[in-house]
Amino acid sequence: MSKRSGAAMAVNLNSKKPKHWSLGLLESMKDPECIVIKSKQVVVIKDKYPKAKIHYLVLPEADINSIYALDKSHIKLLEEFGEIFEEIKKDEKLPLKAGFHAVPSMQRLHMHIISTDMVSPCLKTKLHWNSFTTKFFRPYADVLEELKEKGCITKMAPELVLSFKSSELQCNQCSYKPKTMPQLKEHLLTHIKKENN
Ligand code: AMP
Ligand code: ZN
Repeated sequence: MSKRSGAAMAVNLNSKKPKHWSLGLLESMKDPECIVIKSKQVVVIKDKYPKAKIHYLVLPEADINSIYALDKSHIKLLEEFGEIFEEIKKDEKLPLKAGFHAVPSMQRLHMHIISTDMVSPCLKTKLHWNSFTTKFFRPYADVLEELKEKGCITKMAPELVLSFKSSELQCNQCSYKPKTMPQLKEHLLTHIKKENN
């Protein structure tokens, strides 16, 4: 073996294999810095790139990939998600909503708990906005009801997903339709100022 190939092998053996970005929540749910609440079945973490003043993620300890892997045996688990949402609502002053993205980007089932101000430097794109303010965001109560009624969650039709993702910008607190994200972000601040007066 030449010196060069020996060195290359040492680098490979010593370097940690980078994990795919879509597995990031699995790391965060083990990190005490990220954990807000932990029970036997459920972990609540802070969203690493919050899209509003308050943004948490609720995840099961069990290896469930998304809402589409849920069946009737998971109703109790999902009810615990709801109890945690109620607990957090009691502690936080801002209005909050809870739900799931129709097409999640990260692995492991996760429910978003997010304040409706949507004021955050991490909120940058139209896709970020539309994923929380259109029907792409599937409210917790609707998902629980569907699971109880049908025993599973039906996937959203791809055309619908596309139409929600590409919807025109619309303020979530009034009828204003901004043309651009910077306009929207500036406008959202006016809602906060109104509340403070
Ligand atoms: P979704 O589109 O429903 O899969 O949303 C995934 C959420 O995870 C987004 O709100 C991201 O900001 C958040 N996120 C991405 N990576 C991490 C991470 N490593 N730890 C915590 N939250 C993350
Ligand atoms: Zn508005």
